[in-house]
Amino acid sequence: MKKILITRRLLRENEDKASKIFKAELNLNDELYSQSKLLELSKDCDGILTSLTDKMDEQTINKLPETIKIISNFAVGFGNIDIEAAKKKGIAVTNTPDVLTDATAEIGVLLILGACRRASEGIENAKASNWKWSADYLIGKQLTGARLGILGMGRIGQKIAKISKSLGMIIHYHNRSKLSKEKEEGAIYHDNLKDLLSVSDVLSVCCPASKETVNMINKDTIEYLPKGAVVTNVARGDIVDDDALIDALDRRKIYAVGLDVYKNEPNLNPGYLKHKSAFILPHLGSSTKETRTAMANLAIDNMDEFFKTGNCKNKVN
Ligand code: NAP
Repeated sequence: MKKILITRRLLRENEDKASKIFKAELNLNDELYSQSKLLELSKDCDGILTSLTDKMDEQTINKLPETIKIISNFAVGFGNIDIEAAKKKGIAVTNTPDVLTDATAEIGVLLILGACRRASEGIENAKASNWKWSADYLIGKQLTGARLGILGMGRIGQKIAKISKSLGMIIHYHNRSKLSKEKEEGAIYHDNLKDLLSVSDVLSVCCPASKETVNMINKDTIEYLPKGAVVTNVARGDIVDDDALIDALDRRKIYAVGLDVYKNEPNLNPGYLKHKSAFILPHLGSSTKETRTAMANLAIDNMDEFFKTGNCKNKVN
């Protein structure tokens, strides 16, 4: 039986499944392991099931025992793992695509709605019974007819596009490669970021964090957006330069932001907290029972497939 380390708690039924297939080292206290503890616990293991809170950088990967052959990440994003360093060491890295698309897109749309319709201020005022209806009370931005720019029109981006189109939004997108007509479903392609931003009344960041996308939304690129645009990010905090975005909120260049992800989570930049127009969530993208169950099952199946066949369809390196 293969031995694996599972670095964070999973839902009970997933831990039971993993324990049936593998000799699974569980983290019943859901402790955040230090690098040294993770290395110590991975001794004699054949694989590690990681979460996005595990920073598997080059240094950590190089120190892993030679027995480790797979890192199965409990996420579709794998910005927390140096996949090249893993490849060099002969370690396969896998992720959990598709199963979290719907849940994450739902949060992506919630960010758009919450930011455009001033939900943070509304919730605060409603809870304090501190509001009086008037014709101009908490006037927000209507989605119907607004242009939605999707940066990263992959699985999640396409689902956000579908829902937002049904709300009457006009969909624009930028990827490095244009989608087929079938996948575009009428969305308008821009082959560069500047062109996308210049037509985005609302921006939805949906691309992965990578060396190419880090701080892609920054002081310079924010200026391409129309004045009063709304910026939302359901992908990864690394893609946005927080200081630049907060400065743009201060200057009212940006009307509102909707964020689920941050640099240095959970310590988000305090500059966001002073803005009532910041609709902020604590990284809830994939957080539904159905999705978390399916993600963990897939992360376990990825390991099982890899150990049985030496390969895995969700291998990313
Ligand atoms: P995906 O299907 O791989 O889509 C990513 C899209 O980004 C692709 O269309 C890709 O197109 C585009 N892209 C990649 N690099 C780019 C670049 N340099 N410039 C412009 N576009 C680029 O991934 P997904 O399943 O939709 O997931 C997207 C991301 O969402 C994940 O990587 C993860 O970080 C994040 N996520 C967040 C949560 C959450 O809890 N908030 C949950 C799940 C996922 P091209 O390759 O043609 O450029």
